Amino acid sequence: MKDFPFIRLFLGLSASAFLVTMLGAAATRPEVSPVAPLANQTVYYPGTEALGPDEMRVVACGTGQPSIRPKQAAACWLVELGNGDKFLFDIGAQSMTRISAMKIPMDFLDKVFIGHLHMDHIGDLATLWIGGLKANRTYPLRIWGPSGATPELGTKVAVEHMEKMYAWEIASIAGKVDHRGLQLKVTEFNPEGVNQVIYQENDVTIRSLPAIHIMDGAVSFVLEWNGLKFAFSSDTSPNKWWIEHTKGVDIAVHESFATPQVMIDKQNYPVGFALALSTLAHTSPIQFGKIMSLTQPRVAVGYHFYNDHDTLPGQIEEIRRVYEGPLAMATDYMVFNVTKDDIRIRMAAIDEDIWPLPATRPEEPDPDQKGGSMSDFIKSGDYFMEEELRQIWDEVNRNNGTDVQLPSSSVF
Ligand SMILES: [Zn+2]
Ligand SMILES: [Zn+2]
Repeated sequence: MKDFPFIRLFLGLSASAFLVTMLGAAATRPEVSPVAPLANQTVYYPGTEALGPDEMRVVACGTGQPSIRPKQAAACWLVELGNGDKFLFDIGAQSMTRISAMKIPMDFLDKVFIGHLHMDHIGDLATLWIGGLKANRTYPLRIWGPSGATPELGTKVAVEHMEKMYAWEIASIAGKVDHRGLQLKVTEFNPEGVNQVIYQENDVTIRSLPAIHIMDGAVSFVLEWNGLKFAFSSDTSPNKWWIEHTKGVDIAVHESFATPQVMIDKQNYPVGFALALSTLAHTSPIQFGKIMSLTQPRVAVGYHFYNDHDTLPGQIEEIRRVYEGPLAMATDYMVFNVTKDDIRIRMAAIDEDIWPLPATRPEEPDPDQKGGSMSDFIKSGDYFMEEELRQIWDEVNRNNGTDVQLPSSSVF
């Protein structure tokens, strides 16, 4: 057989290279897979991170348009401060699902600031109020919102009517739950106040700015704490007050509504209505960009648009025609950690199987609170399953070391 030395050489080299690779791999491969947590998470896991004493965390709990959708709740922003304070700005429909995912005891979620009384900014107020009570809030709910041109267009009357709407609910839980969490404390303020202080506690100052949005009674907010400023537009078209008073804020959350063409294409709006809605009642992306170029926040955050694969590029393109600075286009569960040195933007990873966290103090139902009752007719229909109930009550009492007595009917 003819000899081919170059083939022998090639085979020899390949074999030794293979052997070296195997030996090298054996020497460097870890014995077990790593189990230590990663030092630098690229997502935010609610309930797992302490907030630094000088840090502000801002969470997008609702970023969509007035018609809510599974992906985006209506307007709501949560601001958490290193001093332990927490604030909600707007409480649009469906936003409570996002708030609950943040794993914060409801006792801390007792302050909400309302920019105006559109459904997409207050739609979950009752869910925060009574839903919050049922999720263990034991403190009164405090609400700040603008007065209207007439009393019935103001926040106070809106909240009074919400209470009236829930008369049956309130009567049904009277004496059975901790009534303290049912109290509502409304602070109404003049929406024409310019940079007007509406809240000042625990080194936190919140100011209101007039907003221009369809009719009187809309405002924007600026929260200031520890040298950090968070500005929130709620809904407004471009105005001089925002431009003057939010210059250089650390985080500016401002609406960047869908463009008129998107509203025409996606929602079949008539051209004239789409133009007026997107550019006069609201702030369109290019107007948003112009505002940010005039105010230069450390980060500009656009919200109040459906943030999809086919709408986001157009939004950014419009904004970038006039603004080159730091920009985030919000969607629900976007999280901003803000310090003097850094602004970190991540998405939260959500546990959908959420249960409410316990109250921060013992719950105290007041048995003297009297609610609604049942008629003799309804009582007469009670099919009282005494045997089955006895088994359940006995077992639960045994498991919990208690002796709660089974009554003689379902009427309690
Ligand atoms: Zn609005
Ligand atoms: Zn809105």
